[in-house]
Amino acid sequence: MADIIHLLPDHVANQIAAGEVVQRPASVVKELLENAIDAEASTVKLIVKDGGKTLIQVVDNGTGMSPTDARLSFERHATSKIRNAEDLFSLHTKGFRGEALASIAAIAHVEMQTRPASSIVGSLIKIEGSSLISQEVTAGVQGTSIAVKHLFFNIPARRNFLKSNQVELRHITDEFHRIALAHPSVSLHFYSNGSEIAHLPASNFRKRIVHLFGGKTNDKLVPVHEDTQVVKIEGFICRPEYSKKSRGEQFFFVNNRFIRSPYLYHAVLNAYEGLIRADHFPGYFLHLEVPPASIDINIHPSKTEIKFDDEQTLYAILRSTIKHSLGQFSVSPVIDFDQDPLLNTPYAFRNRDASQPQVAVDAGFNPFKSGAADAYTASVSKKRQQHALEHMYLGLQSLGGDRDLSAAGNVEPETMASSIFEGQAEPEENMVTTFQLGRKFILTTIKSGILVLHQARAHQRVLYEKFLRIITVRETISQQLLFPLKLSFSKTEMNILEELKDNLTSLGFIFGKREDEWLSITGLPALIPEVEAGIVLDRLISEYQQEVPGASFSQSDLLAKTLAKTLAIKTGDLLETTSQMALLNDLFACKETELSPFNKPIYITIPEGDIAKKFN
Ligand code: ADP
Ligand code: MG
Repeated sequence: MADIIHLLPDHVANQIAAGEVVQRPASVVKELLENAIDAEASTVKLIVKDGGKTLIQVVDNGTGMSPTDARLSFERHATSKIRNAEDLFSLHTKGFRGEALASIAAIAHVEMQTRPASSIVGSLIKIEGSSLISQEVTAGVQGTSIAVKHLFFNIPARRNFLKSNQVELRHITDEFHRIALAHPSVSLHFYSNGSEIAHLPASNFRKRIVHLFGGKTNDKLVPVHEDTQVVKIEGFICRPEYSKKSRGEQFFFVNNRFIRSPYLYHAVLNAYEGLIRADHFPGYFLHLEVPPASIDINIHPSKTEIKFDDEQTLYAILRSTIKHSLGQFSVSPVIDFDQDPLLNTPYAFRNRDASQPQVAVDAGFNPFKSGAADAYTASVSKKRQQHALEHMYLGLQSLGGDRDLSAAGNVEPETMASSIFEGQAEPEENMVTTFQLGRKFILTTIKSGILVLHQARAHQRVLYEKFLRIITVRETISQQLLFPLKLSFSKTEMNILEELKDNLTSLGFIFGKREDEWLSITGLPALIPEVEAGIVLDRLISEYQQEVPGASFSQSDLLAKTLAKTLAIKTGDLLETTSQMALLNDLFACKETELSPFNKPIYITIPEGDIAKKFN
């Protein structure tokens, strides 16, 4: 048999490697920014066009490269950062694989201009799809500028897979945030389609956070500081009352590298136990410094996952450090937080009369005392109860307008309800009874046996259909606000709101003026209580951000789902009988009654026969 194995030509091998390194424009941004940082630049400029599809350019004032290095840098496994395998265990740089530039050059048009400090001339190199087009001597400033144009020009399938420019820009912005937070001492500029997205002067970590996420953030931050032999922890966590219903601002950096770690996240969450509601997420910005030899960052091509030698110790230290910071904050509020009360008000309530807080915080909470969590649960559930009832009422208004709560039991169901509920003919004597089980299910009898309804899912379905109808039919019911609500959003968040604006307006949001990070809202959908507006918008923004690439995706569907999930009653909410009944009626007036908007079953039935069998 003839030999059939042959070596792949370099440009093919590079294209294959590119598939791992470059998923989307944001991956190129990450690699180029990291290279600039590794080159010890003090100022870095990022310029993108059309979500990075047309142009991604990074200009740095770092070390630059000699003409030979410039050419070599595009070869696979060409790196100045490690020489042998041992070097992997003492890494102080971001890169080390030497495949980023080779991969990028395999799937784009790349132009690099670079000059080291030691030379008065620099070089200009052009490469398209791994082939060298030209290399010339140029003048030029010290440092390196790399422009990547027409990404995936030679892989149409990949290019078609890219999302809209706005979505790609958001991914780029996420990468930019991570680099910016990892390196506050580097000055960064970011332009998109000719307009400035961010201008970050060199500063410290706290100021960098505030520059990125807005002045409101400063009030939220609690410092964290710990120095042990295993790990050094520096940074900030967000005060518990600013926890969000969506993930939002959560950043771990290990040795100045952004990483994801569900395990460490769990340690943080654990430290917040009893201070935030179960469905809320704490914000954090934490730098961990560990000996390079104690981690392995080699396990993931995009290098956001990492393996620690001694995870358990790290977990314990992180958890107790955060508990300590939170404890200090709650026992000595005078030191840090005795400010103008206006500044202490959560942003959603600024310029508003005082009203019920969104999240209950136990001021006397002592994280080291056991039992604290129980007390919290008790205090929260009272509030939630109140909340739940308001929402039930909300659900009621959502169908049939002014339905009277007290009459809810007497409603004459025309739809499916009439076929499954028994005894509807003489409502007065033969009222359907319902009761709640475990604050999670509603039980009622039906002709054939028992119906068990999942309260949260049922209400999600009711609200989802209502919101979808409002958006698609545009039957907007807006409630004008007496005083405009002023909410603060970061630039990225503002951009997302801009994208969602049409649908939000048809829902009933009325947007007023926008000044820097403040957006005024003059009208709200009738279904959204004023105190919830900030939370609802935050949640929408983050759901939109997390939208899965490639999933078929309709903005209105996502909006309706998110609103339904945010505003629906929850497991744990206590419902009065009238509300239970109303929920049943509302559900069975829906188009789809069996599945929640998230495709989970809403109710089950237990036939009387099955019950009888148990007595055999
Ligand atoms: P890695 O960063 O893993 O070493 P890259 O493909 O990203 O691999 O870069 C290859 C080499 O090119 C780097 O090791 C570095 O020597 C050089 N290089 C890349 N970008 C820059 C830059 N902006 N300034 C100076 N040198 C750079
Ligand atoms: Mg690199």
